[in-house]
Amino acid sequence: MGNTAVVVGGGIGGLAAAIGLRRIGWEVTVVERAPTLQDAGAGISLAANGLRALDELGVGEAVREASRGQYSGGTRTPQGGWLTRMDGTALEKAVGTPIMGIPRSTLHRLLRAPLRAEALLIGSEVCSVERVGPGTARVDCGDRTLDADLVVAADGIGSKVRGRLFPDHPGPVYSGSTVLRGITEKAVGLRTDFELTWGHGAEFGHIAFNDGRAEWHAVLDLPARTRFADPPAELRRRFRDWHDPIPALLDATRPEDVLHHDVHELRTPLPSYTVGRTALLGDAAHAMTPNLGQGACQALEDAVTLAAALAAEPTVEAGLARYDAERRPRSQAVARAARQAGRMGQRLSHPVAVALRNTAMRLTPSRLATRMILRHHAWVPPQLG
Ligand code: FAD
Repeated sequence: MGNTAVVVGGGIGGLAAAIGLRRIGWEVTVVERAPTLQDAGAGISLAANGLRALDELGVGEAVREASRGQYSGGTRTPQGGWLTRMDGTALEKAVGTPIMGIPRSTLHRLLRAPLRAEALLIGSEVCSVERVGPGTARVDCGDRTLDADLVVAADGIGSKVRGRLFPDHPGPVYSGSTVLRGITEKAVGLRTDFELTWGHGAEFGHIAFNDGRAEWHAVLDLPARTRFADPPAELRRRFRDWHDPIPALLDATRPEDVLHHDVHELRTPLPSYTVGRTALLGDAAHAMTPNLGQGACQALEDAVTLAAALAAEPTVEAGLARYDAERRPRSQAVARAARQAGRMGQRLSHPVAVALRNTAMRLTPSRLATRMILRHHAWVPPQLG
């Protein structure tokens, strides 16, 4: 059985896959096209399934220490009325942890820590992956080639590797929403850890961090590639009548720290997560809308499952078949659920439908809401030994 791997992409999925493969004794090289490790991005929430995967990778404790438990908050209307209250304590009782909020840059740093610096090839872009023998794949990075027993394509939603392996697949499509995000410059006084507010065609949310700062995101249903001359001013205009602390969060963020991306998803599911000696993982395999906060959590599940399957099976082929069988149904079901959740949020525009949804949410007992969340969070990782 082979034991060398090249991971294409040094995002959350790629780094986690590299840690998992290292833990089962493989030699791993991660190829990342970004020239520097700036870890741009706002914040991220990690649910129990993602945290359990991180535990299995040996970094769960460090991530928890750097995170803040999301105990209080919930979903609101723009006027400030509560549709649901989040019960982090009930979630903790049910799955051992509340959802945790962490800056992406911190998560990236903690995922890089267990890897040797030489294992990371920064500023190298993978152009192609080819099969060069029955058990070998070759990764071409332009200035060099790397041969390995396994290639893990963790190159994100725009995955070139996926495009080459599945030339007939339509690839990612625009979800209908664009998202602006930021992290406040300093600590802000927040009454809750997490909030999500739904208006017509717009959503605003925040996640509090353990240093008192907070990340916020504003989702707008607009045509793809809509851009604003002055994004912070545009957001202040659109959200000025929304409840506290929304205007205050916008005011507490430096204009140059506001990021703007269109949200895409892989709406047509892939027929397989493996081709020959290549395994697709994370957004490359199943990019989903962010409505359930599960994209990175699913990538972490992929990473642990791939390593465990390769460790358990006698051949790489059998390990890859097991990875595909274990990961494809679950991650594609979560992607479908995320899309569905998006339809019930800011995308719902008919006033009657909005009124019905709001009433249903207000009447749903928090125990039932917790049970619905658990469908995705209550995942038990395979053991890496
Ligand atoms: P990426 O993070 O996209 O990493 C891919 C990496 O590959 C990049 O570093 C890229 O530079 C590199 N790369 C690409 N092509 C090449 C190449 N040819 N050669 C070398 N390197 C290459 N998920 C959650 O679990 N919780 C949340 O709260 C959450 N919030 C979200 C909010 C928003 C607005 C969005 C859009 C997503 C959110 N997600 C969340 C989803 C999550 O961000 C993604 O699912 C996750 O980051 C995917 O990780 P990845 O490693 O698969 O891909």
